[in-house]
Amino acid sequence: MLQDKDRIFTNLYGFHSPDLKAAKMRGAWDGTKFLLEQGRDWIVNEMKASGLRGRGGAGFPTGLKWSFMPKQSDGRPHYLVVNADESEPGTCKDREIMRNDPHLLVEGCLIASFAMGAHAAYIYIRGEYVAERHALQRAVDEAYEAKLIGKDNIHGYPFDLYVHHGAGAYICGEETALIESMEGKKGMPRLKPPFPANMGLYGCPTTVNNVESIAVAGTILRRGAAWFSGIGRPNNVGTKLFCVSGHVNKPCNVEEAMGLTFRELIDRHCGGIRGGWDNLLGVIPGGSSVPIVPAHEIADAYMDFDTLRNLKSGLGTAAVIVMDKSTDIVRAIARISYFYKHESCGQCTPCREGTGWMWRVLTRMAEGRAQKREIDMLLEVSTQIEGHTICALGDAAAWPVQGLIRHFRHEIEKRIDDYAANPHSESVLIAAE
Ligand code: SF4
Repeated sequence: MLQDKDRIFTNLYGFHSPDLKAAKMRGAWDGTKFLLEQGRDWIVNEMKASGLRGRGGAGFPTGLKWSFMPKQSDGRPHYLVVNADESEPGTCKDREIMRNDPHLLVEGCLIASFAMGAHAAYIYIRGEYVAERHALQRAVDEAYEAKLIGKDNIHGYPFDLYVHHGAGAYICGEETALIESMEGKKGMPRLKPPFPANMGLYGCPTTVNNVESIAVAGTILRRGAAWFSGIGRPNNVGTKLFCVSGHVNKPCNVEEAMGLTFRELIDRHCGGIRGGWDNLLGVIPGGSSVPIVPAHEIADAYMDFDTLRNLKSGLGTAAVIVMDKSTDIVRAIARISYFYKHESCGQCTPCREGTGWMWRVLTRMAEGRAQKREIDMLLEVSTQIEGHTICALGDAAAWPVQGLIRHFRHEIEKRIDDYAANPHSESVLIAAE
């Protein structure tokens, strides 16, 4: 269990003020100048040694990502872009950082930008996050006023930070779509390569990082890579914000050690499963795009990148969506399919056509109005979408469907049998509602 002394986000619940004075009392901006004086390479190496894996979903090592930026500028400026789009259903962790501990993020922006030779950083914040944008802008203004950032700041490294408000499209959380959107274009993902580290914002070397990945940087460097890498399990280290929603007694956001088990997470922080552990049906452990894991597999699984990948799912954003046995699981996944159909940008045919097709088939299946052979056809089509598109939205749409068929095929078949036996029965009509 994570001890209080090891928490990075000590104002996650907003019990204290988010302003600069209070943030400094909690440890933000402590010795930042000293950290920068250690040099760019030291910072990147410490981040690598800390074992921090990106908190935006993919889990790519953060220090390694920073090291991809060119060491010397070829005349083009370098940029840091912070992805605060946070649109993955179930995810609400970055929101709390920006509301209640924004100075950790502002400080992290300075440190990360310094480590990558960037003199400007942009935070791209989700369109719906209006209050969070105000809170963040207040913190940025305070940092400018106190000369913590700006052209002639006390750290001796000219640095500007801008908050950019999106318009509320899920696809703008994809890093290249985010860059397009910031450039004033439609938020449509770019083909890669070239990767943003070579050709990103305005054609310049750019690194895009998640809010949580940047906000933890200052504390990691202050307390040392060994402290961070000593928490959790090998290759899955550090603290992590979990957002638990759905059928638990007390849904919550909580910072915990990576690699605690699902049961520990739920019993310790969420008051248990609604109706008890025997009532658990399944869990989507990392935001709606990762496949569901059935109750017997998840109950004692470690909540980390590698364990969940071995269960054919993923930690993703650590948005844990718990479903008890009252859930109509076919309908729930159909609803998720509708979301991805709605958010597809339409550039690639498999995604544009496939997401809508999967949603329509699943909607019929939720009512039982389907043939059993269509289940394999649906699975086959999902594999034709997965990996055949410009960005990961195609995968994100395919994986929940694959998870449903892998673990709940019997439920779809039962619907089909029930409907065939009695097309007008009450249970079939309820499923169709
Ligand atoms: Fe757009 Fe979908 Fe292609 Fe991504 S996978 S670029 S969202 S059409």
